[in-house]
Amino acid sequence: MSILKLPPQLANQIAAGEVVERPASVIKELVENSLDAGASQVDIEIEKGGSKLIRIRDNGSGIEKADLTLALSRHATSKLSSLDDLDAILSFGFRGEALASISSVSRLTLTSNTLEQNQAWKAQTEGIEMAVKVLPAAHPVGTSIEVVDLFFNTPARRRFLKSDKTEFTHIDEWLKRIVLARKNVHFTLKHNGKMVRNYRSANSQTQYLQRLGQVCGKVFAETALHIDCEHSDLKLNGYLQSPEIHSNHADIQYFYVNGRLIRDRLVNHAVRQAFNELNLTINPSYVLMLTIDPYQVDVNVHPAKHEVRFHQSRYVHDYLLQALQSALIQIHSNAIKADDA
Ligand code: ADP
Ligand code: MG
Repeated sequence: MSILKLPPQLANQIAAGEVVERPASVIKELVENSLDAGASQVDIEIEKGGSKLIRIRDNGSGIEKADLTLALSRHATSKLSSLDDLDAILSFGFRGEALASISSVSRLTLTSNTLEQNQAWKAQTEGIEMAVKVLPAAHPVGTSIEVVDLFFNTPARRRFLKSDKTEFTHIDEWLKRIVLARKNVHFTLKHNGKMVRNYRSANSQTQYLQRLGQVCGKVFAETALHIDCEHSDLKLNGYLQSPEIHSNHADIQYFYVNGRLIRDRLVNHAVRQAFNELNLTINPSYVLMLTIDPYQVDVNVHPAKHEVRFHQSRYVHDYLLQALQSALIQIHSNAIKADDA
């Protein structure tokens, strides 16, 4: 038996298997890159649920011509230089895999310009060696990435794509999660040439409540209790559905750690327990943001980064439970006072 080194394209396609499942996962990776680059405007355009075209344009810092080739190659990142950095990572990215993976399973064009350059450049990869070709282009400061014919060369993956409508729904749901966490960024989404979402930047509480209404429905935005509490190095803020309101808007359960949406059993448990202890048996609805010292949380648990590990999980659990309980008690007693009046 002889051992062969995989050609780059194949190695990247295998890596893509972990993070690039469908158009929504491509959009997640690309938009996170835009946000890591400090963009205040992110425009997303898709055709046919993203399977035909995904185009993301941002006004972030851009990529230097000399770095375009690296940006498209695997394990190349500007966000991390040592294992120590990973202990306190605040950017979404750090694996340096997304662009390489996506470009191995689609026709990808990366166009970018920076303040220091007097013109833009675009880059594309070619063939199984994934050689990068760089050409002059026109683009303001920032980056556009175009992903055409996703999975055209990986038919097994392509077959797993659902209808355009279903793929669109996945994209829409993901976008809702990110727009709640990045209120100062203006996001738009166009589908088949038509603007379908427009989340203007929310620089005040009133504007944020509008955004909350766009995502979670008017009832939630109008009735949710605002939580804002701090205890030594932990901060929790966000919105909690008043238990008296029976909204039919299911599944408003968004929990962020340092701006990253996560799913976590410990967090779910704390929220449920807070409701249960007050004999509130309804399904809780919430949008909550936990701010924690990045050294206290490990985000490198899974390539898709939906999971985290808290170093002091008991402490975080108990803090959440307490914070939510006291918030709920307060809503409850306000409701009773209102009834008495
Ligand atoms: P990661 O985000 O893990 O670093 P990616 O493959 O997603 O890896 O991106 C590789 C590199 O390309 C990033 O580290 C960044 O330097 C650069 N990059 C990608 N997208 C953008 C963007 N929209 N704006 C500026 N730089 C970008
Ligand atoms: Mg990235």
